Amino acid sequence: MLEFLKDEISQLKSEGRAIELRILESPQEPLSVIDGKKVINLTSNNYLALTTHPKIKEAAIQAVRDYGVGTAAVRTIIGTMDIHQALEERLARFKGTEAALVFQSGFTTNVAVCQSLMSSETDLLISDELNHASIIDGAKLSKAPRKIYPHKDMAALGAILESSESRKARRRMVVTDGVFSMDGDIAPLPQIVELCEKYDAVPMVDDAHASGVLGKNGRGTVDHFGLKGRVAIQIGTLSKAIAAIGGYVASTKLLREYLISTARPFLFSSSHPPSVVATCLAALDVLENEPERIQRLWDNTRFFKEGLKKLGFNTGESETPITPVIVGDTAKARKFSQALFEEGVFALAIGFPTVSKGKERLRTIVTAGHTQKDLETALEKFKKVGKALGV
Ligand SMILES: *Cc1c(COP(=O)(O)O)cnc(C)c1O
Repeated sequence: MLEFLKDEISQLKSEGRAIELRILESPQEPLSVIDGKKVINLTSNNYLALTTHPKIKEAAIQAVRDYGVGTAAVRTIIGTMDIHQALEERLARFKGTEAALVFQSGFTTNVAVCQSLMSSETDLLISDELNHASIIDGAKLSKAPRKIYPHKDMAALGAILESSESRKARRRMVVTDGVFSMDGDIAPLPQIVELCEKYDAVPMVDDAHASGVLGKNGRGTVDHFGLKGRVAIQIGTLSKAIAAIGGYVASTKLLREYLISTARPFLFSSSHPPSVVATCLAALDVLENEPERIQRLWDNTRFFKEGLKKLGFNTGESETPITPVIVGDTAKARKFSQALFEEGVFALAIGFPTVSKGKERLRTIVTAGHTQKDLETALEKFKKVGKALGV
């Protein structure tokens, strides 16, 4: 049975697209045990090192005691506990919006919002070419036609909004990642917002990599750029800096009300276990009470990025803790990653087609939990391996 998949897998292997899972044998930490080896971990999205924060762990355990391990229901039936509601009120306050709605993941949040809002062939969904896969899939599940603009190209976005197709549309929505996950660059949100205001389009920003990272206490790109009240839809994830799992949309009460009755992932998939919700609430406390973590994240980011640049590596357009080391060849990127691993540093190799040809790379993400010594050691190893491989 399923023998036909053998061919498919050989094809994936020949294209270098077959993935093998690495096994983490410790908590997700700055120093982790991966496939039996203790390494400096430059690959997680654990920006603020909250995965092992004692207060957050305690909150999760207490929630199991108070509420049990699961809800055994979707939100709309009987899967909304008082703590789910508390988390949404808290997220709305955090983001400075009227309301928020939590979904099972950032992925399902994007799918839900695109599908629910872009519900007619006469709508138009406009998207940056480097937006996350969940926005691409959300766009596919929507009924609206799609227009893709070249990465951060505001003239191209303006031309799409100016076109008759756009002017005729019932609704226009412009969707962008806040921080792009492969290059670590930041969307030109002020210009996007201006264009949206000029052409009566709805701006939607996906702050998966910006929440906990940019803006006051990690409020995200809208706060970072001082655009409060001008971005109709903010998406966040609870799976990266917040260190749990989940996604949310922060917006108006009206949108929340609409999504509760229409968003398919909300209607047909069950709600978070109480421990996850408590984890998120406790993580938000930490964001507000321990701003020094964000400071440390940025200090580490500057130190590591400067170090890589001084060594002569091409770090692309990064402006955030995501720093690529562009190698320009998939096989070489793999080799680089493998050799670094043997030296005790884990940085993920990312090849074509996840990134375009010539942009194959290692992707590094520093966290607030790395010590200066960890980062110095990592830089030494990058230097050594880079030299050996001629990168
Ligand atoms: C990671 C990511 C998501 C998905 O979030 P999950 O909570 O992991 O499902 C969505 N959008 C962007 C831009 C991301 O980087």
